[in-house]
Amino acid sequence: MPSPLNPQLHNALLKAFGDVHIANEGETFIPSKVIYRGRQSSEAAHSGEYYSVDCPFCHGRKKLWINHMWGVNDQGEDHLYLAWCYRCEQPSIRETQKELREQVFPFSYGLRQKRSDLPTATSPSEGETISAPTPVAIPVGLLRFQDDVAASAADYLRERGFDPFELDEKWGVRYCPYANNVKPRILDRIVIPIYTLRRTLQFSQTTEVVLAGWQSRCIGDDPSGTPKYMCMQGLKKSQLLYGLPQAVDTTGPVVIVEGVTDVWRLGSRAVAVLGKAVSRTQQQLLVRHFPGRPIVVFFDDGAKAEGNLAAAAIRAIRQEYGDRAPVVVATPPAGRDDVGACMPDEAWAAVWAALPGK
Ligand SMILES: [Zn+2]
Repeated sequence: MPSPLNPQLHNALLKAFGDVHIANEGETFIPSKVIYRGRQSSEAAHSGEYYSVDCPFCHGRKKLWINHMWGVNDQGEDHLYLAWCYRCEQPSIRETQKELREQVFPFSYGLRQKRSDLPTATSPSEGETISAPTPVAIPVGLLRFQDDVAASAADYLRERGFDPFELDEKWGVRYCPYANNVKPRILDRIVIPIYTLRRTLQFSQTTEVVLAGWQSRCIGDDPSGTPKYMCMQGLKKSQLLYGLPQAVDTTGPVVIVEGVTDVWRLGSRAVAVLGKAVSRTQQQLLVRHFPGRPIVVFFDDGAKAEGNLAAAAIRAIRQEYGDRAPVVVATPPAGRDDVGACMPDEAWAAVWAALPGK
């Protein structure tokens, strides 16, 4: 008797199609393959257990392959890439996906599988979606730093040790004198776009870079009244890692920091959690996008406890997925309060010092 990883799905397929062949039996789905700007990272995804059945669209014998994670954690419309006919290339759109879903789960379509019904190993793709991203309202009147009007903003960034043109080039940072088309309104602030990776509507695990929103920052350190950082209304900070698209394109250790300026300081091998806590979704993004890479949590001096908590959480979730790469905590060098206050060399020295065997 076969013991499929997802007995509920396997049974439903047996009922719907009569005969099911199991491939890669007992192997778990590991979504770690990332393609960015056409280049594939070295970690190959492991597709895990598949059920092949006769295709209801083209009747190709055992041509429709359905992953054991299909229908888990979705509403029947996401994760299109988990079911695929090698002959007719269906279901390739939501409508055909829905048709298949109705055929396999005729009485429960539209209902989520209950937690207790799920196979024990689930994919760290919870919270991700391949649906079209919500359009992001872009502030009007964004200026580049060579514009005269942006001179004081550019000077402020230089004072803090950043090259405004590099921030433009590398991170898309702009200056906004005034914008009333967005919430909250912007008056004399630096605008920082936040990009993320999303799955595309394809069978493969290709991802694309999309704009998730923005943060704005006031010019200067102690403004009266307005907060230092303001987020676009509706920005789901806890679902994002600032710098993720750049970081997946690198190798070696990945540094987890609090804010955007920390990432600017360390460069593209750092991502910011935009706060002092690493949410479950952020932990899953780390598992998925940085398999096998050492992780260094580098929070501000005043957030040591939060940094230790974050490292423990990342270590625990990595263990769930069998990833034993080190997760360590770095502390700012003496006399520096945070990563942003360090010179890049100092910050990286603290990172290397935290890693075992260095
Ligand atoms: Zn087919």
